[in-house]
Amino acid sequence: MTLVDSAIHSLEADFKQEIELLKELTRIPSVSSNEKHAEAMVRCAEAVAKSFGEAGLEQVQLLMTEGAPPYVFGELLQAGPAAPTILFYAHYDVQPTGRDADWRTPPFDPQLQEDGRLYGRGVADDKAGIVLVLAALRAWLASCAQQNPPVSLPVNIKFVVEGEEEIGSEHLEAFLHQHRERLAADVIVLTDTANLATGLPSLTTSLRGMVAAEVEVSTLDHPLHSGLWGGPLIDASMALAQCLSKLMNEEGELLIPGLKDDLPALTQRERQALDALPFDEEEFCADAGLLDGGRLAKQGSSKTTSSKTASSKTVSVYEQMWRQPALVVTALQGAPLDSANQLTARAKAQISLRLAPGQDPQRAGEKLRAFLLENPPFGAQVKVALGPSAPGWSTSVENPCFQAALRALEKGYGAAPTMIGCGGSIPFVGPFSQVLGGVPALLLGVEDPPCNAHGENESLDLSDFQKAARSCVHLVDEILKLPDLKG
Ligand SMILES: [Zn+2]
Repeated sequence: MTLVDSAIHSLEADFKQEIELLKELTRIPSVSSNEKHAEAMVRCAEAVAKSFGEAGLEQVQLLMTEGAPPYVFGELLQAGPAAPTILFYAHYDVQPTGRDADWRTPPFDPQLQEDGRLYGRGVADDKAGIVLVLAALRAWLASCAQQNPPVSLPVNIKFVVEGEEEIGSEHLEAFLHQHRERLAADVIVLTDTANLATGLPSLTTSLRGMVAAEVEVSTLDHPLHSGLWGGPLIDASMALAQCLSKLMNEEGELLIPGLKDDLPALTQRERQALDALPFDEEEFCADAGLLDGGRLAKQGSSKTTSSKTASSKTVSVYEQMWRQPALVVTALQGAPLDSANQLTARAKAQISLRLAPGQDPQRAGEKLRAFLLENPPFGAQVKVALGPSAPGWSTSVENPCFQAALRALEKGYGAAPTMIGCGGSIPFVGPFSQVLGGVPALLLGVEDPPCNAHGENESLDLSDFQKAARSCVHLVDEILKLPDLKG
């Protein structure tokens, strides 16, 4: 039996322990956005470090960067400098639980349901990403030990797990610079992205950028009786609604002047790749939970229309999600529902503007701000504060590592993999690769459309979890087979 075959064998024989480890990590409420979970964040970092040691990593330590939760680091460099080095990345922090009453099972008490999915906050994003790397490593080390005579691991492994991904990885760039030598690698593998569908393995090659903005509209210096004053005077909530409504037409198209001036055109190859992806509109709407009668923006059609083959309509959904800007109002604040019957004086909204890879977030933020400030309704005072921003990312897939990753995914899932984009933003992917000298970045993970990451009832398909771990085992083998990775 080859090393990789016996590693797969070990993985399958002992996969239960990986699910147990995932449950153990999920029980720790490592919510990075809330101070009250600070103790849990440290406890989670320590639990991850412990699992590093148990999986066989060495030099395991919590690396501190001023202001950031601890980074967990470990490595195994038995293979020596002539062998390739893979740096894996995942994160141990999770999003807040949201509306607790909407959870069908307690968020931090992971439970397997009849649909074969494990439910809990962070099971998919991204504690699964941590465990599948450790599972693959454990399997490889078991395989090496079973050889006669035993051999050492033929590849060098480094693994870093951060604790502030869900709040923007603010310190990651400083951390990368600080530990550049320790982290040096020939390829980085980030296990924190999604598959196009359950059971359909995917490699993510582009991410959207983003800019956030807060809009505040004031019409009065204090609230007024809505009956005695309403009519000639307009309340701030209505003025804000008018400000927001000019951002998008009824078809869902963005109307911010100049926003798309720097939108890169897709190459023929890129468009062909999008065309080749499977798309089922009905399933897409069902996964999203779109209500009856709802339709998609732009070239949207009725929810009941099904389209099994790629047409110009279906392509546009992927293009819209991955290669076009999108605007979402993430929060609105006028007056609380139990407030007096009055004209509100001040109202606020938070806006998240996603951007295509290649678009400049500062520029987009300025365009948004200028448009919101232009012609305020009824002369209302409008303030726009731009928040965090980050550029998108896309990679050429010329490096043979990408083909190696596709082969590994195919073997792990037993299904032909796809290359996809992602509408979300992972701001550090570009800097990560740059700081390490432009090495290829492979983005893969086990999230799927029904997993509801960041929402209530987050879940993980355990069958895909095992397939992803299997793919990680194969990935090591496929990378080892690349002739000139060491350049
Ligand atoms: Zn994540």
